[in-house]
Amino acid sequence: MQPVFDGHNDLLLRLHQAPDRRDEIFLTGEGKGHLDLPRMQAGGFAGGLFAIWVPSPAQEGLDYLSQMETPPYDVPLPDLIGVDQAVGVAMHQAGLFHWMARASGGAFRACRSVAEIRAAVAAGSVAGILHMEGAEAIGPDLDALHLLHAAGLRSLGPVWSRPTIFGHGVPFRFPGDPDTGPGLTADGLALVRDCNALRVMVDLSHLNAAGFRDVMRLSDAPLVATHSCAHAVCASTRNLTDWQLDAIAETGGMVGLNFAACFLRPDGRDGADVGFDVVMRHLDHLISRLGEDHVGFGSDFDGATMPEGIADAAGLQHLIAACRAHGYGAALVEKLAFGNWMRVLEKTWGG
Ligand code: ZN
Repeated sequence: MQPVFDGHNDLLLRLHQAPDRRDEIFLTGEGKGHLDLPRMQAGGFAGGLFAIWVPSPAQEGLDYLSQMETPPYDVPLPDLIGVDQAVGVAMHQAGLFHWMARASGGAFRACRSVAEIRAAVAAGSVAGILHMEGAEAIGPDLDALHLLHAAGLRSLGPVWSRPTIFGHGVPFRFPGDPDTGPGLTADGLALVRDCNALRVMVDLSHLNAAGFRDVMRLSDAPLVATHSCAHAVCASTRNLTDWQLDAIAETGGMVGLNFAACFLRPDGRDGADVGFDVVMRHLDHLISRLGEDHVGFGSDFDGATMPEGIADAAGLQHLIAACRAHGYGAALVEKLAFGNWMRVLEKTWGG
């Protein structure tokens, strides 16, 4: 079985929303969602980035998924969330990440380096890395970033699509271009600087074009989008245009292919009936712009509608089989599934 390292999932949110059922959700697997320990083990999910994400308070009349069923769409963004509202949720999810390591008796490990990831995988454990998607729980003093780093945080997106004090994210539009407005604020630039100093990876996936350019100008690390697709195949604002892919390639960075149906499908619909032929069109395009060493996977498990051929973490080897059937050789498949993430993380974090 080919081990797969994954750039993005939202399991911590699912656990956060049902804390009294965390044993059955994670340890035994309740058969819902996309990710739990038994299905990770069944599918060769060797490790990945686990996102802390603070949901917006329920907003009346905002039904994302039904709007994305019928492109064209332009989903209104929720309001900014204050740091006081976000801190408790973020702390809870960070705590759940460490609970997963404790409660699994070592079957899941909280890792902070590539050496720790490799050791976990060699021992047959799942290697988790703590990521934060949107920095709402960090104030302008940035002190919480340093606390989170001490708690294992190794990757951070300055914004989810909703605005923060650090910048403007990219709204969900189809069809649309990611060039949607202003980028990072002065606080956002300071956040990127401190991430660089701590060697915390800066995730570009939810930044708009201006924010992407800000990170490109400022950051001394490889540019990485943990869960994004090719705009040339699916013209969503959330996908990367060719100039963005070229910029990522120039820094030796990487893109993790998002499995979300709405970012894969050329028609922009959020329907699971999307075949591996479409997934391969994205991979071919990403590889043609970035090169074989700069593409991987970033599933968005537990955060998006999956293609029916993958369905959940247990289906990852179907994707591997599709890559082989498409003509990708063994060395390329290994790089896409695992090796490229290790290379970029090592370059970003140091040895
Ligand atoms: Zn995301």
